[in-house]
Amino acid sequence: MSDEFTSHLRPQLLGRMTQRAVVEALKAKGPMSRADIARLTGISPTTVSSAVTQVVRAGLIEETDAEITGPGRPGKLLRLTADSAQVIGISVEPEYCEMILGGVDGRPRTESRVRFPTPNTYTRLLAEIERHARPWLDRPKTRTLGLGLSLPGIIDPTGERSVFSPNFHQTDDQRPGHDLRERLGCATVLVQESDALCLAEQRVHGVDDLAIIDYAGGLGVGGLVGGRLLGRHIGLPRELGHVAVVRDGERCGCGSTGCLETVATDAAFARLVSARVQRSLTAEEALDLIDEYPAERDFVLDYLAIAVGAVTNLFAPPLIVLHGRMLPRRPSLLAVLTDRAARRKLAPFRDRCRLVLASTTKAEGAIAGILDHLFEELGPTLQPSVVAAHAQS
Ligand SMILES: [Zn+2]
Repeated sequence: MSDEFTSHLRPQLLGRMTQRAVVEALKAKGPMSRADIARLTGISPTTVSSAVTQVVRAGLIEETDAEITGPGRPGKLLRLTADSAQVIGISVEPEYCEMILGGVDGRPRTESRVRFPTPNTYTRLLAEIERHARPWLDRPKTRTLGLGLSLPGIIDPTGERSVFSPNFHQTDDQRPGHDLRERLGCATVLVQESDALCLAEQRVHGVDDLAIIDYAGGLGVGGLVGGRLLGRHIGLPRELGHVAVVRDGERCGCGSTGCLETVATDAAFARLVSARVQRSLTAEEALDLIDEYPAERDFVLDYLAIAVGAVTNLFAPPLIVLHGRMLPRRPSLLAVLTDRAARRKLAPFRDRCRLVLASTTKAEGAIAGILDHLFEELGPTLQPSVVAAHAQS
């Protein structure tokens, strides 16, 4: 690389890295002044000030009305934008779609939550999303910075194309990120739904290492290792749901038979109870009858325990978050599952992986996904460990 080239590149890159450092400092430690950011990051106050101007202009951070008093020059507190800018999180699932607004601070505005049955064609799906998003995009004095779209199945490594989903085919081989960007005019990123849950639960638990088991429809597994997603960042497929565990078992949406997701999920429970009552029940309807069909419930729990054992033996994360409907219906089943899963774990891991129920939704994870994208777009992190270490002190 010529000196002329690098001398031009360096100030620009350093500027972007400083902008990222400003955002990461506010994300890690909450509202603070320009002087505090300079102290925390070790970057000169002048450089911080000009980076702050850029990031305020981008809408990611804002000045609050609170004045800082004390030694030195008075200044205003900065924070991740709460009101004047927003992002939209959308989750598309086989039965329902959910849309929610969030601030740059990552807080979902639960009063704006919208849920609607998933349209049966791709064109209708886009139209329905646009219909609900339009009033949000037109809110006065509020900029929409982007949209995160949580999808089941496999998303190609560029994050542009939804490749294949065994239980949901409306988005197969489509480019919903591109198409929504065209229709709505704002940045859109696709987030695989297990990754979305990882990101949302990471914020709740404040940890960088966890696994997700999503047993709601298919059986999805997600993992976060040192803050990096096994799927998006490391590129592992994580298709545990399509490991065959039952010889001559049920036909699976993937084309094979006896896959773990045909026996370890809410959908599996609905199928079993439907067979008993001889009519087709949704998962919700079947779960209303959970106490009347203990054998079917135990069958599903046994296979879910196998899934927990497999995730433990493969990754041994300190925390496994379970997302689905059966366990929240009867919270006492978590102890049963923990007990059965222990028998499937290798002895050294038995006490290591705590099981908890998810407290977030995929739409909230989509908000976390678009925010991560917007922050990454600013520039690379300077020294994340330094900021994190200071933030903890
Ligand atoms: Zn399968």
